[in-house]
Amino acid sequence: MAERELQGTGATPRSGLGTVVWYGQDIELPDAADVTVDEAAERDRFADAVSTARAELETEREATAERVGEEEAAVFDAHIQFLEDPTIEDAVETEIAEGTPAPNAVDSAFGAHIEQFEGMDGRMAERADDLRDVRDRLLRLLTDGDRVELADLPEGSVVLAERLTPSDTAQLDPDTVAGFATVTGGRTSHAAIFARSLALPAVVGVGDDLDSVEAGTDVVVDGDAGTLLVGPDESERAAAATDSGAGVVEEQVETTDGRGIEVAANVGRPVELQPAADRGADGIGLYRTEFLFLDREAPPSEDEQYEAIREALDTFPEGRVVVRTLDIGGDKRIPYLDLPEEANPFLGERGIRRSLGPDSDLFVTQLRALLRAAADGEGDLAVMVPLVASVEELEDALDALDDAAADLDDAGVEYERPEVGVMVETPSAVFVAEELAARVDFLSIGTNDLTQYVMAADRESEHVSDLHDPTYPGVVRAIHRTVEAAHAHDAWVGMCGEMAGNPDLTELLVGLGLDELSMSAVTIPDVKAAVSETTYSTASERAEDARTAATRSAVANSQQ
Ligand code: PEP
Ligand code: MG
Repeated sequence: MAERELQGTGATPRSGLGTVVWYGQDIELPDAADVTVDEAAERDRFADAVSTARAELETEREATAERVGEEEAAVFDAHIQFLEDPTIEDAVETEIAEGTPAPNAVDSAFGAHIEQFEGMDGRMAERADDLRDVRDRLLRLLTDGDRVELADLPEGSVVLAERLTPSDTAQLDPDTVAGFATVTGGRTSHAAIFARSLALPAVVGVGDDLDSVEAGTDVVVDGDAGTLLVGPDESERAAAATDSGAGVVEEQVETTDGRGIEVAANVGRPVELQPAADRGADGIGLYRTEFLFLDREAPPSEDEQYEAIREALDTFPEGRVVVRTLDIGGDKRIPYLDLPEEANPFLGERGIRRSLGPDSDLFVTQLRALLRAAADGEGDLAVMVPLVASVEELEDALDALDDAAADLDDAGVEYERPEVGVMVETPSAVFVAEELAARVDFLSIGTNDLTQYVMAADRESEHVSDLHDPTYPGVVRAIHRTVEAAHAHDAWVGMCGEMAGNPDLTELLVGLGLDELSMSAVTIPDVKAAVSETTYSTASERAEDARTAATRSAVANSQQ
């Protein structure tokens, strides 16, 4: 056993063994009271720092675009905007004019903006990280602050830091760095997202205990369990050192007794498509289109959406691409869409409820883009609607699709009707799964939300995270019921919640009868390997025990 185990949130389900390198900014501001400020000189110093920072950001932008992708590189454009924001610049210059040294003026002007963003929700709050990044870059230039060169770390380093900004993370080379762990951050923080695109072992949000881990100590970053093992023992070291994951399997996989299971990827942005294909995805099982609407001032046009979906279809010429229509509300907020303030946003206006209500115009635009892309793209398009709770909602959505097709017909625009499906994420959808399946080509189970609603356990809350577990019998039975309903109506059934990407649960899911499993690309090789080792006849007997089990531990025992 390791000498100590620290718990955080796993960001990438990989383990890495290495030696701690602490990454801190080590910036010391001058004592403003001791400095006589030459206003013109300080102003010049500030201007020089801004132009050097700009040059650095442009170089890093290019390197990131090459190494990670265009979409990830776009964060540097945001940094350049913050760097040259006239309000912040004015605030710095005003302070300099009042006799404040340039570094202190930068610290205070950025500090005020950081505080404002920290007071906001979700992704706006993450902007505070971007501002900190720009501030620290300027302070380093103004104070000659030392910092560890992240791009040039010794092989086998594990980086520990208070937080890692997007530009920090983009410099990490997954071939030499064994992983990282941070004091702050959650699964959706930029650092975690970058870690996943680089398949780098990472644990975020460890808390202040991380500070006690000294540089030079050997640690294991277990991004699966969300733990940092300080002073690991021999077996923990060996397990981490050999965790390179299963090898990529290009072809479709089947169980030892010949049941084929489609293993697909969940994506949200065009830049994730090729990495998914590279990790052996058979297709896309969930394209979260709301990501195409984030980080911009207005919704993407029909043509932009058409292009994005075409790119997906052309990346998987032999495969299927399941696109989910806009799913906002709940924890996903888009500032320009004017979402209502609700006491329980997860039970409020989200998913299909908005597409049939206040966002109906956006829904029509999206459906037109999808119908057109289906005709032109190489792969097969499938479209699914999120958070359906009633047959009425599904029928209204199907009517909207018919209307969009009729409009394109009238205008003489080429289109093709894609496969249509429903996400099963609400208990009601489970209870009316027969009626839903009778009207569509497929069902896809969203276990993140389904578990939240079946167990009445907020998917975002660390206080009830133990209850938010899809291996409770209530959820297992809901999955089984959905599969039976789909198959009774010749519909295929997939799963695109996080559960699908857990190779320890592959046998259970195959045994329950799922036809497709869709997950973040990093776990595809492990799940493909698990499918190939599964015998369907045994798996279905064990699944029968699982769905008749009374407790979570009995479900677990049924799979031993
Ligand atoms: C789900 O709820 O399981 C799902 C896949 O959708 P999201 O996580 O985007 O809500
Ligand atoms: Mg969902």
